[in-house]
Amino acid sequence: MRQKAEERFRTLMREIDYLNNISQTLSWDMRVMMPKDVAQYRGEEMGFLAGQIHALETSSEMASLLQQLEEPPSDDAVLRAMVQKARRNYDKLTQIPEDLFSAYAAHNLKTEHIWAEARAKNDFSMVLPFLKQEFAYKKELISCAGFPDDPVTGLMDEWETGTTRQQIDRLFETLRNFLVPFVQRLRSEPQPDPAPLRGFFPREKQMAFCREVLQAVGYNFDRGRVDESAHPYTTFNYRKDIRFTCRYFEDDFTRATLSCLHEGGHAIHWQNMGQELDGTTLAVSTSLPIDESQARFQENILGRSLAFWEHFLPLAKKYFPELKSVSPERFYHALNALHISPLRLTSDELTYNLHIILRYELEKALLDGTLPFEELPAAWREKSQEYLGVCPENDADGVLQDMHWFSGYICYYQSYVLGNCYDGHFLHAMKRDIPDMVDQIRQGDFSHILNWNISHIHRFASTKSPHQVLWDATGEELSAKWYLQYLTDKYTEIYHL
Ligand SMILES: [Zn+2]
Repeated sequence: MRQKAEERFRTLMREIDYLNNISQTLSWDMRVMMPKDVAQYRGEEMGFLAGQIHALETSSEMASLLQQLEEPPSDDAVLRAMVQKARRNYDKLTQIPEDLFSAYAAHNLKTEHIWAEARAKNDFSMVLPFLKQEFAYKKELISCAGFPDDPVTGLMDEWETGTTRQQIDRLFETLRNFLVPFVQRLRSEPQPDPAPLRGFFPREKQMAFCREVLQAVGYNFDRGRVDESAHPYTTFNYRKDIRFTCRYFEDDFTRATLSCLHEGGHAIHWQNMGQELDGTTLAVSTSLPIDESQARFQENILGRSLAFWEHFLPLAKKYFPELKSVSPERFYHALNALHISPLRLTSDELTYNLHIILRYELEKALLDGTLPFEELPAAWREKSQEYLGVCPENDADGVLQDMHWFSGYICYYQSYVLGNCYDGHFLHAMKRDIPDMVDQIRQGDFSHILNWNISHIHRFASTKSPHQVLWDATGEELSAKWYLQYLTDKYTEIYHL
């Protein structure tokens, strides 16, 4: 009896896995290849697939199989994790009334559309009632899912189970108290010369350069591909098919290089998830912050380091001869110069964190009801001035700059900074385990770094909690300590403090 239930459950989970992957491939096609006129029909196809997945996850058969397999729990750790995950999904999805869910989905689409128009017209009032309603829906949905008292923790739980508002508050306070005066101090110092980054870098040459860099750091081109799209992103598919996209700017080749390293970091993480997890639905990142940590490790810790460019600048010079007189040090300093901007996406590695902290504090105040939505643009400007020392000239470059809140990603931003903090720990532990790590990077040998990431993080996918991953890899609980140490060391050297 139990044997039969187990077999049937595994079959259902494999079917859900197939459908999820098919939907990822279709969505890649939609963003990269699809002819324009098929958009509406493709939307229907994707909606149909989502409905099929939902039906499998919430079926009465699923409920009965879960009951049979929960008591007693299986000795097989993978099966146990599959049952726990399916239970969480089942409870969450069946607790939300279907009409609430479809009303929200329709509202969400509309808000996203109106946000784009409001941004183009620089008119926050256009999207204001929709944003209010978006937050109201999110609060209602999260209260159905079992977080009636604290929507902030509830919403963050979607991206990293177990992380609470109190933890993020403490972590962000530590970061803010350090970063705000540190950035002010750096501002008053002489700035690195940006000239080494300037020039004309043909698109085709950038593509070839990025390909060599990606191969060196461990992206497997037999299990993925890189294409172009307006907004770079990675498909989260079966581990043998992890594709991503990039965008190239001919006046600065480092933008595409760092963006490829970021998306490539996500992709390397997913390409190396354990084979035993195929078809179980567990071959996904254990949390968004851990996934981001893997992307940011490639982009920032490696891609913005001196050793990395000591190795790759000579290769870059073969593609872009105008770099011929640039030294790795000058290049590295230019790449890491402070770039204080009201825009999150063009900011430097350091002030990026302040952009996130600003958003987190504002969304929390909106959810708590302590900040009226009407006052959001002014509050945004005030905080921007206070934390970054710059004020956006208009709302398009202020509160309207990012799509997140207008497409339902509320209490999502903190994942980026959590990823940075995880990286601080991972870097510290990696240097302990690979003492000549920097020399290896300088020589273009990334194999030990890749293997460290695979054996401590990637292969477990979602079978370990993020906190367990961190604990097992480093013996520590999450804090900002090592990340701040990394930033201090780096910028003290660059700015000759
Ligand atoms: Zn990312």
